[in-house]
Amino acid sequence: MTIQAALDQQVELESLFDSHQELSLDVAHVTQLLREGYEQPVLILDLDIVRQKYDRFKAAMPGISAHYAVKANPDIRVLRALKGKGCKFEIASIQELDLLLSIGVDTSTVHYSNPVKPGSFIKYAASKGVRWFAFDSREELVKIKNIVPDAKLYLRFDTPNIGSDWPLSGKFGTKVRDIDGILDAAIEISADLCGLTFHVGSQCRNIDNWNQAIDTSKKIFKSMLNRGLKPELLNIGGGYPVRLTKPIPSIEYIGRVIKNALEGFDAEIKITAEPGRYMVSDAGFFVCQVIGTATKGDERWMYLDAGVFGGLMECTQGIQYQIEVNNKSGNEVPWYVAGPSCDSVDVLGREQMLPVTASEGDLLYFPNAGAYTTVYANEFNGFPLPNVLIINE
Ligand SMILES: *Cc1c(COP(=O)(O)O)cnc(C)c1O
Repeated sequence: MTIQAALDQQVELESLFDSHQELSLDVAHVTQLLREGYEQPVLILDLDIVRQKYDRFKAAMPGISAHYAVKANPDIRVLRALKGKGCKFEIASIQELDLLLSIGVDTSTVHYSNPVKPGSFIKYAASKGVRWFAFDSREELVKIKNIVPDAKLYLRFDTPNIGSDWPLSGKFGTKVRDIDGILDAAIEISADLCGLTFHVGSQCRNIDNWNQAIDTSKKIFKSMLNRGLKPELLNIGGGYPVRLTKPIPSIEYIGRVIKNALEGFDAEIKITAEPGRYMVSDAGFFVCQVIGTATKGDERWMYLDAGVFGGLMECTQGIQYQIEVNNKSGNEVPWYVAGPSCDSVDVLGREQMLPVTASEGDLLYFPNAGAYTTVYANEFNGFPLPNVLIINE
């Protein structure tokens, strides 16, 4: 191997594992912020980190317009910080649209990417200036066309979500074999079908998902051109991963893979992306408390004041955090970790490695928890919503 090749390989290996340069929020910092005392679960959100993530995303994906997926964290202060950087937005409902209207977002740039929408929502969004609508079925295509005849439509197609910790395929996306029929239907009703979109799955750690999806896009665009439909938009969706417990490709590496895959695309086609988790996850630190422990046979149980209903829903599936317990280290053992409610689905994990000495009153720290936490929380059983503490607004 030449020296240059060895150096290239070194760079490649480093970029494959995100060095996570934004993580300025650490346990020491969080403890300092909570010095007044702990009352209830809290998400600490550092907006400087959100802004840094936006800059890093843009630098890694030159020429690609970023539309933040509001659902990841719809806190108005997060939206304002991103708008201040020039970020655009993606919505799933008109309630999310209203948040954007309240801070003066230009609605003509908004992507309404939920593939299934109530007719009344479509009508309202159009009346507020939204032009871009996603769909993934003939039924939704006809529905949108009837309500908004001049809507700009982009088709969500199904694509592999292998290696994504929170898959989104199955529920969404036109099956590839149905696509030609949908293109024909668009021509038949003179709908302005001019774009494509996909989602590789959230927390996607497999770069091949982007390669495959972009490759399929190329083929569909060719079919569109053959039928006289003019491609204008490729929306490569969300899925960009953050550092949790497994190694991830860095955003710079993903950016290079996407750039290579886009080689040969018509320069007229606008490329957009919809990062959600990537923009906010690292900016958040979730803190909650052990309210009790119990030994049941061989099992050690730990009950927290926040669970599935209190913001930690993602723990029940593929998402795992690098949890720390205050002032406790050393011998770690598997714990059953559960939320406070009287519902048996409220169990976060069954083999969470945590210090053997953990006990009632200990605080648990979840780093990188700015996305898909508070937004999932509700007041089931009367337990309060987590507080949100914003720093560097
Ligand atoms: C959830 C979602 C996103 C954001 O996904 P992340 O994995 O958080 O980046 C983007 N686009 C659509 C259509 C979504 O549903």
